[in-house]
Amino acid sequence: MIPQSFEYLRPKTVSEAITLLEKHGEAAKILSGGQSLIPLMKVRLARPEYIVDINRLPDLQYIKEESGFLKIGALTREAELEASELVRAKYPVILDTARLIADPQVRNMATVGGNLAHGDPANDHPATMLALGAEIVAVGKNGERAIPINEFFLSVFTTALEQGEILTEIRIPIPPSGSGGAYFKLERKVGDFATVGVAAQVTIDAAGVCRRAGIGLTNVGPIPIKAIRAEQSLIAKNLDDNQINQAANLAAEDSQPSSDLRGPAKYKLAMVRELTKRALTRARERARS
Ligand SMILES: Cc1cc2nc3c(=O)[nH]c(=O)nc-3n(C[C@H](O)[C@H](O)[C@H](O)COP(=O)(O)OP(=O)(O)OC[C@H]3O[C@@H](n4cnc5c(N)ncnc54)[C@H](O)[C@@H]3O)c2cc1C
Repeated sequence: MIPQSFEYLRPKTVSEAITLLEKHGEAAKILSGGQSLIPLMKVRLARPEYIVDINRLPDLQYIKEESGFLKIGALTREAELEASELVRAKYPVILDTARLIADPQVRNMATVGGNLAHGDPANDHPATMLALGAEIVAVGKNGERAIPINEFFLSVFTTALEQGEILTEIRIPIPPSGSGGAYFKLERKVGDFATVGVAAQVTIDAAGVCRRAGIGLTNVGPIPIKAIRAEQSLIAKNLDDNQINQAANLAAEDSQPSSDLRGPAKYKLAMVRELTKRALTRARERARS
């Protein structure tokens, strides 16, 4: 339970952090909230020789609407999402998600950037960001780039971030009026990772027709899954219960759960179906209100 010894580095600017990451290459690891990295170091599944602590970098902790996007700074803590009036009023799917992550102690430290950069298919934000059509902003030695969220998760614990790149911001297109979203998570006990989680975000017009749909699935495959067929099945259709049931079946078909301590694969498929129904139904209610 004791990490291998390492050198602790605390850059003051993003460019200083990038220089340090460049210099030390694969021997260096970024530290944000430490809620995933430190446990891995304690059991020596991660053995970085250099820790680049980015917690003191300025201007990476914010939640604001700007230029058509909700922008979340990478160092924003889960607890700040929970406390944000903007998130509460306009992005209930993000509030649902933050509230269901771990426990208050973890949420006081854990960052949204770390949750996504870790690339863990059991983490909750990835599904929500897939449903919202977010993009990830990364900064490295070659400057800044934006990565669409559906291209961000490559395999278990592997993302499109390149060696030496820092995730600095998450950008979510501001949903038009008539939009609503919800996240549902089945967990064995409070604070546990998801057995299954489903995020849904829809936009419906005055006639009740679905104009946009996003559905993301947590912990039912090697990467967070965007349920594309389920999303497409809803477009230009009246968002009624029958349509929601069909989408839920497609989401279950697109998931790839494996049997483990949280339950057999067949049970998880049934839970994807059920939670997709619930998430879409709640998203529809919120879109209407
Ligand atoms: C008891 C417990 C229960 C938990 N339950 C849940 C849960 O139910 N749902 C859930 O989603 N999560 C859960 N987590 C994980 C928690 O939310 C993590 O903190 C989060 O996944 C990682 O965020 P962090 O800021 O702590 O990142 P860190 O632990 O600091 O870093 C994680 C990884 O991402 C890299 N990294 C971090 N920030 C950046 C960045 N800005 N740019 C590039 N790379 C970066 C690090 O190098 C490291 O490899 C739990 C954790 C604990 C300890």
